[in-house]
Amino acid sequence: MPTPLHLLRHRFPGIALLAVGCAACLSGIAGEPVEPPSVQSLVAGARRAGLRVLEGDHLTLVTDRPPRDGDGVGSLPEIFDAAFDSWCKHYGIDPAACRDWRALGCLIVDRERFRSAGLLPDAVPEFANGFCDRDRFWMADQSNPDYRRHLLLHEGVHAFTLTLRSLATPPWYTEGIAEFLATHRLRPAGAVGPGAGAFEPTPMPQRAADVEQLGRIETLRAARAAGTPPTLREVFDTPAAVHHDLRSYAASWAAVAMLALHPAHAETFAAAERAALDGGFTARLARSEGWDEARTARDFAAFTDDIDYGYDFARSAVDWTPGTPLATARRTDVAADRGWQNTGASLATGRRCAVAARGRVTVGVLRETPAGAPVTLESEPDGISIRWYRGRPIGRLLAAQWVEPAGGGAGRFAILGEGREATCTAVADGPLFLKLNEPPGELRDNAGSFSVTIEPVP
Ligand SMILES: [Zn+2]
Repeated sequence: MPTPLHLLRHRFPGIALLAVGCAACLSGIAGEPVEPPSVQSLVAGARRAGLRVLEGDHLTLVTDRPPRDGDGVGSLPEIFDAAFDSWCKHYGIDPAACRDWRALGCLIVDRERFRSAGLLPDAVPEFANGFCDRDRFWMADQSNPDYRRHLLLHEGVHAFTLTLRSLATPPWYTEGIAEFLATHRLRPAGAVGPGAGAFEPTPMPQRAADVEQLGRIETLRAARAAGTPPTLREVFDTPAAVHHDLRSYAASWAAVAMLALHPAHAETFAAAERAALDGGFTARLARSEGWDEARTARDFAAFTDDIDYGYDFARSAVDWTPGTPLATARRTDVAADRGWQNTGASLATGRRCAVAARGRVTVGVLRETPAGAPVTLESEPDGISIRWYRGRPIGRLLAAQWVEPAGGGAGRFAILGEGREATCTAVADGPLFLKLNEPPGELRDNAGSFSVTIEPVP
């Protein structure tokens, strides 16, 4: 029996470069399944046609792109091999067991040259940026080397999962895992570990410069600002036919990132990923022991509410326990190195409370100073005015409640008060949450806590 064709196609919107992301990837069956020509015969044909053939352990890359110093194309097979090892690790596959696995990739400037060399068969539909069929993929060359690498690895993950894992999952996982496992940076000079330029997976990118042109975090933040963030259910239910824009890709990546990296979900998700990756994947995941749909949806909404580069799932995980009604004054500590912290003090809608904070915490280190020596940044509950984040000083104490729209949709933290002394009026029934204002990727170098008193106000 010939293997059924598994085809994944990418169309990329022709928008401004910095906003371009991985867009539409459709799966389908193109015509009668046929056995493709062997890799050896294709590579021989490529060489006869004057195309460059670059070989790694797990990738044969054919390109008509002329050799150019500094474009990074020569190192793509080596980067692909390093990425391959990280994909094996993700799925718990022994790399030695698939030592002979190889993908054949075409990096294309002029499609006609590939067609006439027999490397771009008619069964491959028109694609804007990328297309994958089992262990073969085709991609249009990209002007940005970072984005070219990302796209190559995205298609590589498709080839890996389609063949080694027989993947046939709903599009949110198919595309989300390709984005998740393709996201990386090249190690800078002086980094600890393997040398400069080596592949380093960064499924949650640390900084925008590492993932030029992906635009996923910006897209999700824009959706938040517009009041239209995706819910986890919407992501799960997105049909292939409409999974074709940057928002779909950003949301699918975010769902996989949250499920794979959040301490409350990582184990359940990894177990689901080690089982069959078929059309029933989402339903089976939702039937997993310990899966709480409402809680998972809330965790996803909390992630997209605060999403930023370097988002730290462990430090930002939210305790959703309902707490007890605030009847008398309570004191609590708010750690500087964590995201939203549940005070355990529950308020009914319309009730008021006074929040008073004192203390001094460390919110980071200023490394480049006029004197040359690093300076530890300290903050009191009003924050420090030398740096702001999302319209408020860094280190400022924030008080909030979790609010879910009455008509459904993604919840969010509504800030009710801030600073050393605040009076908050509850906008929902539920606990009061406190945290310091800081990017979620910069919590790890914080230290100390504020002492906070919460008191009912008649
Ligand atoms: Zn894709």
